[in-house]
Amino acid sequence: MRPARALIDLSALRHNYHLARERHGGRALAVVKANAYGHGALRCARALHDEADGFAVAFLAEALELRAGGIDAPILLLEGVFDVAELAEAARHRLWMVVHHEEQLRMLERTPLAGPVDVWLKVNSGMNRAGFVGDAVGPAWQRLQASGKVGRIVLMTHFARADEPERETTLEQLQRFEAATAGLPGERSVANSAAILGWPQARRDWARPGILLYGADPMPAEGNGLRAVMTLESAVMAVREIAPGEPLGYGGRFVAERPTRVGLVAMGYADGYPRTVPDGTPVAVEGRASRIIGRVSMDMLTIDLTELPDAGLGSRVELWGDQVPVNRIAQAAGTIAYELLCNVKRVGVEYV
Ligand code: PLP
Repeated sequence: MRPARALIDLSALRHNYHLARERHGGRALAVVKANAYGHGALRCARALHDEADGFAVAFLAEALELRAGGIDAPILLLEGVFDVAELAEAARHRLWMVVHHEEQLRMLERTPLAGPVDVWLKVNSGMNRAGFVGDAVGPAWQRLQASGKVGRIVLMTHFARADEPERETTLEQLQRFEAATAGLPGERSVANSAAILGWPQARRDWARPGILLYGADPMPAEGNGLRAVMTLESAVMAVREIAPGEPLGYGGRFVAERPTRVGLVAMGYADGYPRTVPDGTPVAVEGRASRIIGRVSMDMLTIDLTELPDAGLGSRVELWGDQVPVNRIAQAAGTIAYELLCNVKRVGVEYV
């Protein structure tokens, strides 16, 4: 069997969830949208079910998958609903929903519902992507209240640059949020992972940790206590020697400067490993450091085994995980850990 696989450590997920809640205080919705950032939404939600205060997904179909799988905890739709049919369905399944624009407000006012829904009213405090701005927040809150369709209203906002600790923008967003919601009753939620870890000023009633649950710190720091949840691994499937001056792989990007022992690994960009990483990107072979040489291709990649003479056919290769932080690979690829984790596909998935 092809050895490419993602190992998902559910005890690490639980550990990270507890760490998020401890750091932030109050309650925490575990963000499991996008198939739990590539880790398997239902498996992750089940692993957290007895302890999590609730879950957040992007849209209705993601929530229904969890409900169908027996998740009866609160689930928040971060994008809210797209039409009245979705609104009715969301209410039937007792989903909580973000309301972030006028049309969603109108839908709520006009659609008869079986029972009240809990709404998270989104304030645009500076991301300028979604939400009600400044003076529009109070009237939106009043209309929700007057609609008679709404149970609890939680006031929320989302940060654009909380992963940049030296910037003032997060504090400015907080100030705008406070000003827009002053005098409105109810709970608040502002912190994503970066804010949970880096902005104690952002602690409110509810946190919304995403990436940190999966062990990737949005502001990579030593000793943050997070544990990697996914290990992406495969094995050496062939070994060959190339002589000085010989090129390796597509485009001949890598040219050997010395006799080089090349390990061929069953993992490529079709599995979600990024094609854009340069020569020298780290991997771990049976726990020892090695590096990518040559371009990553669709199904395979090549690594340098010259310094690891006892590594060979079948040797286990970690592409990211405990030994090779996914953030390190994201940096090499010019992207973020979120994108890499979400893109893993085609490989076997095992839960431990
Ligand atoms: N809250 C909202 C509204 C989001 O859109 C997201 C993710 O994009 C999160 C929380 C979780 O963010 P992070 O993964 O950075 O913790």
